[in-house]
Amino acid sequence: MIPFNKPYMTGRELSYIAQAHANGHLSGDGPYTKRCSAWLRENTHASTALLTHSCTAALEMAALLLDLQPGDEVIMPSYTFVSTANAFALRGAVPVFIDIREDTLNIDERLIEGAITPRTKAICVVHYAGVACEMDAILDIAQRHGLRIIEDAAQAVMSAYKDRPLGTIGDLGALSFHETKNIISGEGGALLCRDVAFSERAEIIREKGTNRSRFFRGQVDKYTWVDLGSSYLPGEITAAFLAAQMEAAQEITARRLALWDRYHAWAAAYEARDMLRRPVVPTNCRHNAHMYYMLLPDQDARAEFISRMKAQGVQTVFHYIPLHSAPEGTRVGRHCGSMDVTARQSERLVRMPLWVGLEGEIDTVLEAADKALEML
Ligand SMILES: *Cc1c(COP(=O)(O)O)cnc(C)c1O
Repeated sequence: MIPFNKPYMTGRELSYIAQAHANGHLSGDGPYTKRCSAWLRENTHASTALLTHSCTAALEMAALLLDLQPGDEVIMPSYTFVSTANAFALRGAVPVFIDIREDTLNIDERLIEGAITPRTKAICVVHYAGVACEMDAILDIAQRHGLRIIEDAAQAVMSAYKDRPLGTIGDLGALSFHETKNIISGEGGALLCRDVAFSERAEIIREKGTNRSRFFRGQVDKYTWVDLGSSYLPGEITAAFLAAQMEAAQEITARRLALWDRYHAWAAAYEARDMLRRPVVPTNCRHNAHMYYMLLPDQDARAEFISRMKAQGVQTVFHYIPLHSAPEGTRVGRHCGSMDVTARQSERLVRMPLWVGLEGEIDTVLEAADKALEML
């Protein structure tokens, strides 16, 4: 079976882990964590980049940083992973789901203003497939209404919008290094702070609500409990693994893009025959080839395609069940306006295998897909 995902190892992970072991510093914020944070600051221009256990943890930190009160509202797409909504719902805030764009499947920025109420505190955008949302329009809305912007940039490491790295265009950004993402540490993530306004509190929240980081920098002579917080920092073993991946980030991205381009060129003929729709990448977006998806005519065609691919030994998968229609989504959140695009596109979308190392098998995948599509 050709799997949908296969974690790529650069070959240096184990020697870095051995070095972390030899260093004898196994808890968080040792030399490897510092290296990863420096890489993130260089590559995203964030003023502060803090490694976390996951993107989920980074989103939870963002929700704490916004001081959300029960009943406050956060506008977001429904077509996303549960953590985008959970992070805010855990603070008692209400996720307000709006529809997505037909083309990029990102939040439809034209619908945001219609969802703003006196309780709205923030907009949480999701850069689906590593392709940026329309950030200039969203920044403008946020500024006019005094709202914060959180970027769920889980899929978007190495992606940019008008040459600005994703995750540092809004106030706060959350990255994921989960093994299904481009650059990985098993479980892992990072919180990015665009400017210093949130930096100090972010450090405190990540260190169980203490000013331990300031203590280690010699800025205070003892550390104590100063704010709400939790344990969000990964240990050095995880950071050592991640450091090896970060060093190979350019190569990983280039190899993924080459595979993505293969799919895109192959799918053009089927799109011309109206048998599917290919992903749309606006010209102002530089994407990271996180995902190659196709939109098939309907849910039945998708189920048929997935089962025909499986019969030929290739795993292809669908994606999110829209959150506004999920049991917990209807309990803690609400939606605003029509969700037709979300409903329709989520039923049609199928994701193709895409991982570094697939080069040797991409022809097999495409041949299987030819057969599966011709039978539809
Ligand atoms: C993967 C993903 C997450 C969760 O990332 P974790 O690191 O597993 O917590 C959140 N949001 C989106 C859009 C994702 O794709």
